[in-house]
Amino acid sequence: MMDRRSLLAAIGAMALMPAEAKQTDTSPQSAGWQNWSKSLPPQKAQIVMPDNVAALADIIRQTDGGVRPVGSGHSWTGLVPCDGAIVRLDKFNAIGAIDEKAQTAWMGAGARLKDLSPQLAEKGLAFRNLGDIDVQSLAGATSTATHGTGRDLPCLAAEILGVRMITGAGEAMEISAQENPDLLPAAQVSLGALGILTEIQMQLVARHKLHRRVWFAPYAQVLADAQQLFADNRNFEFFYLPFSNMAMCITHNITTAADTPRAHDESDDGVMQLKALRDWLGWFPYLRKKLLSAAIAAAPEEDIIGESWQLLSSARNVHFNEMEFHLPVDKGLDALEEVRAHIEKHRSAVFFPFECRMVAPDKAWLSPFNDGPRMSVAVHTHAPDQYEFLFTEIEPIFRRYGGRPHWGKLNRFSGADMRNVYPQFEAFAKLRATLDPQGRLLNPYLRDLFGAA
Ligand SMILES: Cc1cc2nc3c(=O)[nH]c(=O)nc-3n(C[C@H](O)[C@H](O)[C@H](O)COP(=O)(O)OP(=O)(O)OC[C@H]3O[C@@H](n4cnc5c(N)ncnc54)[C@H](O)[C@@H]3O)c2cc1C
Repeated sequence: MMDRRSLLAAIGAMALMPAEAKQTDTSPQSAGWQNWSKSLPPQKAQIVMPDNVAALADIIRQTDGGVRPVGSGHSWTGLVPCDGAIVRLDKFNAIGAIDEKAQTAWMGAGARLKDLSPQLAEKGLAFRNLGDIDVQSLAGATSTATHGTGRDLPCLAAEILGVRMITGAGEAMEISAQENPDLLPAAQVSLGALGILTEIQMQLVARHKLHRRVWFAPYAQVLADAQQLFADNRNFEFFYLPFSNMAMCITHNITTAADTPRAHDESDDGVMQLKALRDWLGWFPYLRKKLLSAAIAAAPEEDIIGESWQLLSSARNVHFNEMEFHLPVDKGLDALEEVRAHIEKHRSAVFFPFECRMVAPDKAWLSPFNDGPRMSVAVHTHAPDQYEFLFTEIEPIFRRYGGRPHWGKLNRFSGADMRNVYPQFEAFAKLRATLDPQGRLLNPYLRDLFGAA
């Protein structure tokens, strides 16, 4: 039987593990590139790792069959697969010019967020916000509008002040306050479709500590309080635990108080215990709900203080597939509730918690948040489990509520669908065609999206 401690560990595997505990960076190795969850088939394309811009430009100009940049391979959509060359920017990982007064820094586009944070902290700086994990590359994370949570906190790409890249035509180009400033909103979320980014200038904030609180509450209560909790806390998010009627709430607020000891990862098998409960009691939803909600209701709070970058991101060691849609803030909770009801009625195999966050608006042409703040709702399935139902049963719900899909996560939006939800999609498509006239950075997925020959 699952005890309370292992249950907490189970949920912890999703959301509570400290950032330094067993972070996995599943960057593509020498051959057969695959994404993190292995939802995409292994690729035959060569993997190349240039160490200077001239070499990168040669790769773009001379490779047949398409060239695609990759970061840590943590996206599910077909952004990376191609027949020509998959380009890793791992060697473009240094921090360049820093303006400590303006709190800005140029950084290598291939640098991992988890490696940048401690270096920035030494300079008294930090990212304003981070997502659930920080193993992504800076370019990879920003190119798909990766976000954390916070009513007043935008996605990472909104903090981009400038980029240096080699365009699809093989030319060096800077977009910044000094050079081509009108193109900045196009470059912030660019899917690796305009060029391969080599350096990114980010707006940062002063290094800071956060007070983190984690508690469990009845789901209905959390739904009722959610808008207020988003308003009252710098970072608020919650996870609904399917088949439990309970939710886990997490807040982070800035503090100057002293650090407190951190909880350690007790069980990397944790989330598998939620799976075990699913396996044993999947056909007995009443019993499953009863056991789960009783264990969760008695779970203790977590209350800790630490560096922002050490608390905001956690490890995700149990592989999953994920769909996340960004919804108008007044529709997000209704969409979540409809998704919950559907899954609990028809999909007893699901055991990963659903996640609900909020993201502040920005102006990037392809940012899902460019028309106002949005509520992000995510559904996960264990990597070995089938997930077709996400497309056929869950995506239609998100669509009905006006959702825009996360660029890196499972969705079946066509180019026409994207045109419908992004007023500046056509402008982006035109710019792409100008910067990459021969389509060297296109792959089948992007060709479909942009309707390019
Ligand atoms: C376990 C897990 C947790 C996640 N948590 C969150 C979360 O909390 N919030 C969230 O919003 N998302 C989250 N994601 C999604 C993830 O942040 C995005 O998919 C992100 O794009 C992955 O970054 P990456 O470095 O792996 O990039 P990749 O997936 O490798 O690439 C993403 C895109 O960036 C492009 N790219 C990469 N490098 C360059 C470059 N140098 N120049 C130009 N383009 C480039 C690629 O071509 C591709 O289009 C999560 C994913 C996983 C697997």
